[in-house]
Amino acid sequence: MTLMEHNASAVDSEKKVLVSASGVRQIYHKGENSDLVVLDDVALTINEGEVVGLLGRSGSGKSTLLRIISGLVKPTTGRVEWCGKPVTGPCEGLSMVFQSFALFPWLTVLENVEVGLDAIGVPAAEGRRRALAAIDLIGLDGFESAYPKELSGGMRQRVGFARALVVHPRLMLMDEPFSALDVLTAETLRTDLIDLWIEGRLPIKSILMVTHNIEEAVLMCDRILIFSSNPGRVAAEIKIDLPHPRSRLDPVFRAIVDDIYGRMTQRTPLEKSEPRHEGAGTAGIGTALPNISTNLLSGLMETLAAPPYNGRADLPVLAAALQMEVDELFPIVETLQLLRFAGVEAGDVTLSEAGRHFAESEVDARKRLFADHLMAYVPLAGLIRRVLDERPTHRAPFSRFSEELEDHMSEDFAETTLRALITWGRYGELFGYDEHTGQFNLENPT
Ligand code: ADP
Ligand code: MG
Repeated sequence: MTLMEHNASAVDSEKKVLVSASGVRQIYHKGENSDLVVLDDVALTINEGEVVGLLGRSGSGKSTLLRIISGLVKPTTGRVEWCGKPVTGPCEGLSMVFQSFALFPWLTVLENVEVGLDAIGVPAAEGRRRALAAIDLIGLDGFESAYPKELSGGMRQRVGFARALVVHPRLMLMDEPFSALDVLTAETLRTDLIDLWIEGRLPIKSILMVTHNIEEAVLMCDRILIFSSNPGRVAAEIKIDLPHPRSRLDPVFRAIVDDIYGRMTQRTPLEKSEPRHEGAGTAGIGTALPNISTNLLSGLMETLAAPPYNGRADLPVLAAALQMEVDELFPIVETLQLLRFAGVEAGDVTLSEAGRHFAESEVDARKRLFADHLMAYVPLAGLIRRVLDERPTHRAPFSRFSEELEDHMSEDFAETTLRALITWGRYGELFGYDEHTGQFNLENPT
């Protein structure tokens, strides 16, 4: 049976709405005058009989949204309904699969699966029967009496699935369930799960899966909600009508992946990438930056400059060639955008003149060009340099800048942002940093 037939039968027997959310906003207070808006005006509906994917970058608020849907977290504002009733606490009939499971090391596989039943008051004999059935279904037959330390990562994750399935939830929420596994194991688990779903053998009505992996979403889902970052909101919805089993090589599959890449990358074509006062492509002091090594930045510029790309690449093709996931590739591309070494449009990345020049230059010229762009496009670099120039000692502690950044962002982001500046400032020989004393200095630069 294809997934479309599966859906049709679900529709015939009256399509029920499991989750309905609207106007969901989540704010974390980060201190006196800095709030972090994690989710803003999120609306979504999950129906019976479908696999829905929530696709977004890390930090975009996907896990927060799952916790809100499951009733573990109350949103700052907004309405969430589970099976037609407002959610006020942990929902029944819903279970969660996480990226990696905290299995109890002193319990066997069977006992670890039965743990899932403790909370819902299933009689022991019925519980044992269900646990064995879930173990069998998910491919753990023969491992009932094994302990977690005897299992591979993939087998442990299967225990996680069995624990979620054993309660026979109406909705199974999955938070990046394959992302901690190696490539082959992840693919095997995905295929096994989707086969069971198509065959109607899973004791569940729907799946909501969070992922940052575009191909995974296209491979598994009937509907994909594309989640934007800062703040997180549903930016687009895509229906995938391809029958199962789906092939990653199918041109239609590739076209969908391509389209999603385009939607997920910020549009800043080269000609429009001049600094503006606000918004995309400019980094004010308050912009959090990823700590990307200069080796990765140079490496990507060299790769792009060389054949077969000759200055321009399709992001999905590039990601596949470099065996990088969106979460790894996008921050590098965005840093190149920020520094005006590249532009992005419609899922393609293009080197700028400066980017080409960088790729063709020797190390000293590269460092000078990098320093020029850092000073021109990253105001924080200018601030650090100015403070160091002005102080008689030409030194300033880490906290001088981290405290200022924390007015705009969380402590973690401030730390990462300053670490990025240390990495980039050292490379461009704009300033140095002494790890022992925790001080910025002007010792290495000329
Ligand atoms: P994702 O799952 O998409 O990676 P998360 O929902 O985990 O994103 O986090 C979104 C943002 O909210 C991140 O910036 C994270 O640091 C922040 N965040 C998550 N939980 C909390 C919390 N309990 N308190 C403060 N900030 C949080
Ligand atoms: Mg998450």
